[in-house]
Amino acid sequence: MIRLTLLCISTLALYAADADLILHNGKIVTVDSKFSVQQAVAAAGGKITAVGSNASVLKERGPRTRVIDLAGRTVLPGLIDSHVHALGAGLSEFREPLPPLDSFAAIRSYISAQAARKPKGAWIVVPRTFPTRLMEMRMPTREVLDVDSDHPVMFDASYTVVVNSAALKLCGITKRTPNPPGGEVVKDKRGEPNGMLKNAMSLLKGIKKEDAGFSEAEKLQALEQMLRRYLAAGLTAVSDRAVTADDIALYRKLRAGNRLPVRAVLTWRLNAARPTGELMRQIQSANYTTGTGDAWLKFGAFKVTMDGGMTIGTAYQRVPYGEFGEQLYGQTNPDDRGLLFITPEKLLAIFTAARDKGWQITAHCQGGGAVDAFLDALEALDRQRPIAPTRSHLMHASFQSPEAIARARRLGISADIQMPWLYKDGPALEKVFGERGMRYFIPLRTYLDAGVIIAGGSDHMIGHDKNGAVNPYNPFLSMWIAVARKTTQGKTIHSEERITRAEALRMHTIGAAYLQFADDSRGSIELGKLSDLVVIDRDYLTVPEDDIRNIQPVMTIVDGKVAFEP
Ligand SMILES: [Zn+2]
Repeated sequence: MIRLTLLCISTLALYAADADLILHNGKIVTVDSKFSVQQAVAAAGGKITAVGSNASVLKERGPRTRVIDLAGRTVLPGLIDSHVHALGAGLSEFREPLPPLDSFAAIRSYISAQAARKPKGAWIVVPRTFPTRLMEMRMPTREVLDVDSDHPVMFDASYTVVVNSAALKLCGITKRTPNPPGGEVVKDKRGEPNGMLKNAMSLLKGIKKEDAGFSEAEKLQALEQMLRRYLAAGLTAVSDRAVTADDIALYRKLRAGNRLPVRAVLTWRLNAARPTGELMRQIQSANYTTGTGDAWLKFGAFKVTMDGGMTIGTAYQRVPYGEFGEQLYGQTNPDDRGLLFITPEKLLAIFTAARDKGWQITAHCQGGGAVDAFLDALEALDRQRPIAPTRSHLMHASFQSPEAIARARRLGISADIQMPWLYKDGPALEKVFGERGMRYFIPLRTYLDAGVIIAGGSDHMIGHDKNGAVNPYNPFLSMWIAVARKTTQGKTIHSEERITRAEALRMHTIGAAYLQFADDSRGSIELGKLSDLVVIDRDYLTVPEDDIRNIQPVMTIVDGKVAFEP
């Protein structure tokens, strides 16, 4: 017994004395509970084995240790993006770069260029962008897309699309076409379809899914390359927020081939438009649930989409969109509050089945009305047994209220939040909702003061560039937005909702790790945690505020290995 104990101690000592990697002479922002800053950190076997002063950590040095002198540089825990769509984004520029689509003129020249290359009758899909981000601040109508009459055209604004006259003709959509369930064929003043289809894509004929036409090898490559770009942006873990069975298979292949550059946590999304019974069977028969997997690849939450988007006027709000909503989104009804896609009864049935299978629950709920409906459902589940241990969370929840936040706190519900919306869409949204209506728009201060855990994500879905993509996935841009609350036009939106740099960093580290059920192994630089780190070129805690967005990673370390160096 004594011998065994001695053996264990000497093994530990040996192990500890021979670190794989030591970073010293720097500023290690640990994000531990005291937010302590240290000088050095050591890693062995993929775990952090020492953190503290230079002298204490350098004791771990062995003959094969790689020792890096940080020369005063700052190290953060590997950053986490709580909301990406990596495959779609990877494929979006896999074959060719996308032009910036920021005006009607740019959209029309994109259509012309495509029409010159595509056979007559072939669909042209304008890659996803939102009217809030167009110079005109207006949803295009079919006339804008009527560049030629030989090609059906679809402008993709996610849950709402706009098609041209050729597409309406091809699909037989006329003034007599009834609205599909939960959707709308928008009509102009004469009662004719103006091209806008809200949640009504099912009416389109012959249009292919975004990932059609790519081989499996290409998809694997596109996904791997996209995850590599995340790594270069300083991210070491992401939550992929809407995977299908096919996407799961791709991730599993990358994992099996040791090709995952960052850790991935998958959110399984079901199409809630399908019949309840069918959805229940699918939930019950899946052989995975929250936590299935390992430290590189595992399942996170179960998701449904409850409403549309605020960038397209279909987010289900507590109040009508009003006059500017008509201009920006082409709404025809002044009382329009957006669309709620799922009835409360159906939502509760689906969530009950998911919870009973061990899932953490989340839902896309962008507008305040959808937030309230989500909380209603989780409150009902909570009455049966506490929901807090499932770490279920709101997703987006951009239009909040103090009441809903207090309710989330009471239930132990957290939130996955996207700062880029404030930066990119703030100017247009302020025109719709006015200054007062924006009071609880992405209200980070209110969340934190209420004690709700929040995670930072980008909702990156299209494009490869970390600052130019829809939406930008540069985590330093995201943290800067949280701190400065500035829009692309430089205006500050409700400065009373600003949070500190430390708090913004927590959103992209320990907060996001909490939502991933990984806060015991990631999200801070502490003994025994996984050695996922990012070394940056400027000091996050002291650079001038507007410089935070420009911080560049100079080294990203995953599992104790230097995985990215520019
Ligand atoms: Zn998303």
